[in-house]
Amino acid sequence: MRFLKATACGLAMTALLACQPGGGADTASLEAEIKTPPHVSVLITDGERGDWTLQITRDPAYDAFAFVRAGADWRSTEWVSQTLGVSMERIDGMDAIVFAPNAAEVATFAFRPYSGEVQATYTPRIPFSDGADAIFLGAFNMIPLTDRAAVAALMGEASNHTDEGRDVPLSLITDRPILYAGERHTGRLDVKAHQGLYAYLGEATITEGESFKGVIDPGMPDFITKGLDEDLVRVFTALDKRFGEPLDQTASLLVAFRGFDEPGFSLRGGVLPGNMMSFEISGDVLKTENPRIQPYLQRFFAHEATHLYQGDTRYEHKRHAWIGEGAAETMSLQIAMDLGLADAAVQLEQYAENYAFCDEALKGRTLEDAIRRGNEGNYDCGDLLALIADAAIGEHSLADLWTAMASRTDGDGYTAEHHFEAMLELGADPTLVERMRRFTSETVDDPLGELRAMGDAVGIEANFEDGALVAFSVPATAR
Ligand SMILES: [Zn+2]
Repeated sequence: MRFLKATACGLAMTALLACQPGGGADTASLEAEIKTPPHVSVLITDGERGDWTLQITRDPAYDAFAFVRAGADWRSTEWVSQTLGVSMERIDGMDAIVFAPNAAEVATFAFRPYSGEVQATYTPRIPFSDGADAIFLGAFNMIPLTDRAAVAALMGEASNHTDEGRDVPLSLITDRPILYAGERHTGRLDVKAHQGLYAYLGEATITEGESFKGVIDPGMPDFITKGLDEDLVRVFTALDKRFGEPLDQTASLLVAFRGFDEPGFSLRGGVLPGNMMSFEISGDVLKTENPRIQPYLQRFFAHEATHLYQGDTRYEHKRHAWIGEGAAETMSLQIAMDLGLADAAVQLEQYAENYAFCDEALKGRTLEDAIRRGNEGNYDCGDLLALIADAAIGEHSLADLWTAMASRTDGDGYTAEHHFEAMLELGADPTLVERMRRFTSETVDDPLGELRAMGDAVGIEANFEDGALVAFSVPATAR
């Protein structure tokens, strides 16, 4: 089972700002507010039976609004325009609301917040088993643009938009209690959408452990809830040691149980500003306590927690997501092995999959291309590349590499260049770094052969029989 295949995390993050004070829904003043350009604003209303509406008020200078989180096409079929001349469209890999030239300045859409998996972003709605919902407000973050052509010019990547104007204010109206950024609100929540946190709608019981505070689904199997704090303490302790310092604030968690229906089990997670982690756990094997689940859970927690320690250092372009995801994959297994929760057999299984999946993902296309078409390569190729990098920098660790890379970004997002420069700074062989640079940006004829050659060069022993990995070991400095 590929336990982290569906993990969506390490996404672009922005600094957490305190939200504006909440207050009751005052319809009259609200209407006055949303009818006052130049600000573009979004008003979302939580209906009684899962029917939601979104009302967007625009400045006439803008005819198109591109959704920042639009890697996958899920809005164009779900969102229904209620306003003549205004539509939800899929334009070159982005979702956008488009106003016809003579359309009204206020448009309304009916939709149901999507609760399925969306590749490479946060689940838009995470349902909890007691009827509460966590709504990802970042899903409503839009870039105001002049027209459809300006959306197309972004080529599917919001980071290609460099102008100001991402701060479309967003208001959420609901009868349910709201928990947002640790604060409770009633009736209405006003935020800047780009803060991109979850708003929890429902009666939230906050659990405080040694390692976290947060909301845990009351339907979660007991054996998971019971072990959660202890598991996280172990993971955080291991990460404190590797990164040299603890987190700047206690982690906050949203942990949803998504039922026993699926065969096997599924773990999905995300990391958000303010040291928040969202976990979604489901599957029929969780009906009874199963000791074999523990190592998977621990690695899943370690993967997500590694992203917390990676901090606000985010990638500049999503094509470089392999750097953060790969490092989190490699470190989570290193930590699990440290803690005695994974052994050489688990390591062999993980890397056998990585070699096979990465080889497949890169057949006839570059890593950056593979990532653009989905999440392919981020985890498998990323893990192998992170392990090669770790072995290439000798006594330095992946955490050191992260710190060296982060210090080169001047507070902006990192790129593959920052990563390679940091490798060189920590003593990696320039020939290997150049080879890795080509591997990640050009089409490679024989991806498996190239991965094996780079591994050989840094002391990773990988023996294959009939194309399958049968023995694997890494140098002591990369454990
Ligand atoms: Zn991740």
